[in-house]
Amino acid sequence: MTASHEMPSIASGYMIDILVHGYPGRSVCHGSLGWSTIALLRGHGRVALIDVGAFGVRNILIKKLQALGLQPEDVTDVILTHSHYDHAINWTLFSHANISINGDELDWALTAPWGRTPVPELYMEALAKWVTLQRIQPQQEVLPQLRAHAAPGHTPGHLIFVLEGQDRDIIFTGDAAKNRAELLSLTADMSLSVGDSAGTFDHIWSLWRHKPGNVLVPGHDLPMVLDADMPRYVGERDGTITAWLGDTLEKTTEINLYVT
Ligand SMILES: [Zn+2]
Repeated sequence: MTASHEMPSIASGYMIDILVHGYPGRSVCHGSLGWSTIALLRGHGRVALIDVGAFGVRNILIKKLQALGLQPEDVTDVILTHSHYDHAINWTLFSHANISINGDELDWALTAPWGRTPVPELYMEALAKWVTLQRIQPQQEVLPQLRAHAAPGHTPGHLIFVLEGQDRDIIFTGDAAKNRAELLSLTADMSLSVGDSAGTFDHIWSLWRHKPGNVLVPGHDLPMVLDADMPRYVGERDGTITAWLGDTLEKTTEINLYVT
């Protein structure tokens, strides 16, 4: 293991913090957890978030920013991989910032039948009219050295973002590759087009293999690097929940969702 095979804290002129690591799973009786990855990039005069999570993470997100000396108002850019609620809803917390999403993804999201999909219909309707909306597109350099790539399948206009560095790149895949199991099986758990997802997995793997030490940051798992072409996690998994299973609010039980 070498230092170049770890999650870098500085790359391409940015300080990088993964504020929230997504979780690779769902509840058996209560559906999707919606625990997705939120990344912070600070540099080149920008304070940018790649994806912003859903309601449950709001307080944690604010606290994580505060721990770095930031208020939500300091964020200059919100960059969304796609329109699903668990990645996109909290754009309203940063409504003063530039809010970037693939224009085609937004147009598609506006056609989602109400109540039937993970698209937060009204949040997307409001975003489509929002003054700081930036309709971006594949191949665009969204921020200095951060380039969007088309990654259709999970949703038609899904984008992944590559922070291009001299020695290595950092690839933010959102739900185009949600977790390690998807990356290894080349199969998406949720895809609107199996063919598109297959092409997207090919593209992601070629980006990942492009430089030794490239880091992949998935939408619902820990970051990973490649060791002998096999994904290896970097960082610590934490998926603990706390529950009131006793008779008082003081007595709580911690349950680690990573224990198998
Ligand atoms: Zn999604």
